[in-house]
Amino acid sequence: MITIALSKGRIFEETAPLLAAAGIHAAEDPESSRKLIIETNRPDVRLIIVRATDVPTYVQYGAADLGIAGKDVLDEHGGDGLYQPIDLQIAKCKMMVAVREDFDYFGSIRSGARLKVVTKYVKTAREHFAAKGMHVDLIKLYGSMELGPLVGLADVIVDLVSTGGTLRANKLKAVEEVGDISSRLVVNQASLKLNRAKLQPIMDAFQTAIANNK
Ligand code: ATP
Ligand code: MG
Repeated sequence: MITIALSKGRIFEETAPLLAAAGIHAAEDPESSRKLIIETNRPDVRLIIVRATDVPTYVQYGAADLGIAGKDVLDEHGGDGLYQPIDLQIAKCKMMVAVREDFDYFGSIRSGARLKVVTKYVKTAREHFAAKGMHVDLIKLYGSMELGPLVGLADVIVDLVSTGGTLRANKLKAVEEVGDISSRLVVNQASLKLNRAKLQPIMDAFQTAIANNK
């Protein structure tokens, strides 16, 4: 049995065409089903529906053979024991630094102010500011980071931005890019050795579908 871990929402929606290209079709829609294990048309392939941040954990420990996770999640996780062979070119966005519209980010950096940063991505943010030689105070949040600068919890957020609509709606502006984000296929290394005959064709089908989409 091949187990593929993925999250519902955007990742499932954007992965479904890639799975279809590999001849794999979910028997149920995870958005409407309450099942966490979703069968497919192939008796030897099943999907497990987990939180986006939990995907690397399932694959790392071999509870899933394959997983699909954002680079944001993989960078935070560290990617221990995970083989990341394919950039799936889906769920694309940017990791950005953002501040209140009226906040002078570059001015406060020049004046040497110690900024307070709220983010779900503590490791990514720590590495970003360390590389710039900045000392910051990091505060971990689990969601709605945009609120932080509006209520005085922080000066800065580090979060994913695609259209910028959420930032604008909350009178925030993006001031610095941390990096490009897209989702990656992750593979359990031991499982790849044992099950290459089954996993390689799936990986090849993904590669072909991505190349044809360019
Ligand atoms: P929740 O939003 O329910 O707390 P989550 O943030 O973990 O859960 P999603 O919002 O579905 O789940 O995000 C899953 C992945 O999709 C992220 O890890 C990221 O790689 C990608 N992603 C998140 N936001 C965007 C976006 N605005 N545009 C494109 N991709 C995104
Ligand atoms: Mg989200």
